[in-house]
Amino acid sequence: MSRRNPIEDLAHLRHEFGEHGGVNMSIEASSTFTVMDPHTIPEMFQGRKGPEKAGCYLYGRHFNPTVYNLSRQLAALEGTESAYCTASGMGAISATLLALCKSGDHIVSSNTVYGGTYALLHDFLPPTTGVTTHFVDITNVDTVRAAISDQTRVLYTESVSNPTLRIADIPRLAEIARDAGITLVVDNTFSPLILSPAVLGADVVVHSMTKFISGMSDVIAGAVCSSHRFIEQLMDLHSGALMLLGPTMDPKTAAEISLRIPHLPLRMAAHGERALALAERLEAAGVDVCYPGLAGHPDRPLLDELRCPDYGYGGVLTIDLGSEERANQLMALLQNKYRFGFMAVSLGYFDTLMSCSGSSTSSEMTDEDKTAAGISPGLIRMSIGYTGTLEQRWGQLRSALQDIGSIDAYSKAG
Ligand code: PLP
Repeated sequence: MSRRNPIEDLAHLRHEFGEHGGVNMSIEASSTFTVMDPHTIPEMFQGRKGPEKAGCYLYGRHFNPTVYNLSRQLAALEGTESAYCTASGMGAISATLLALCKSGDHIVSSNTVYGGTYALLHDFLPPTTGVTTHFVDITNVDTVRAAISDQTRVLYTESVSNPTLRIADIPRLAEIARDAGITLVVDNTFSPLILSPAVLGADVVVHSMTKFISGMSDVIAGAVCSSHRFIEQLMDLHSGALMLLGPTMDPKTAAEISLRIPHLPLRMAAHGERALALAERLEAAGVDVCYPGLAGHPDRPLLDELRCPDYGYGGVLTIDLGSEERANQLMALLQNKYRFGFMAVSLGYFDTLMSCSGSSTSSEMTDEDKTAAGISPGLIRMSIGYTGTLEQRWGQLRSALQDIGSIDAYSKAG
């Protein structure tokens, strides 16, 4: 369905701003901006002038030309009218939800979301804002529909759930949200380029650009992609959640990330190719592996219907070792003995990163919610890197699995 390939729209955007002879866009390292006419400042405060209206800039927490240019690239990536970049993925998510909900409102959310998002919805918002959340199995559309009440304002999901790797049926969720008159917000952190949630019907797409989009685990960054109207609402000087809470991006970070967007397609394809190859070998060796590209994954047909076929099935797979102790044993061997990857949270790095989700990035969830979401104590999330060769990495992974007795040393695995 969404066979759109965003790179066609992305190709020209980096050159629209700051053409002073260099091949890269300039960094506008100013926190405040001059005007030629004293009336322009009040006009910007009244919302009558701005980056899109007469090309005016006021103050860096509002809009900055470099951040704005990266934001245009994000809008092209996601196929939205507009976008704006934030200091973190959580900045994008929290500003979006605070803009859409007021006290007493209700959110229906997937029960499998990043632990920080869960903590925001489950622990932070109710006492501070009176906004409550009902968590549901997002793959069961009847349950989703039944959870929506008159107070519901937002349907929230990750396109690929962290860490269980279930795929949200975005077109059907969009239909449900449209029928109910509520806003569908999709976190597309795990699947940039692979899925285009806004093209599939989502109203707002949020990103942690800390992950695949930046690709080097050296910056914290986020983005909100949506209509002009919603981005203007977020940036309104009097009531905008992004403007007033202040998690806007630094222009130097924006310039750095803009240099990585051109090779995001190559990186996503490389992550996906390596992850699929390792997942297939793990499966053949009898390891309990989950990867959306495997023929037996329950959502593979849905993903095939929704994805752009040029970027594979994503860079993340999980292995369930049965207990946290065995998971820790394997990760320690993989890092310290075999140099397969690093024990670290996060994802989208060029090397493999691995963490035990239940005790790390999903540890904010209650035990009951972890069980309902299918996050077992022995689940290792691996963000598969593309360094080294496939044979080298498979050899390291196979040896560590053999050391802990997960696969037979004499098996034909590999
Ligand atoms: N969304 C997802 C799916 C994530 O995995 C994360 C971080 O781990 C976030 C959002 C939060 O992003 P950030 O750490 O950039 O605030």
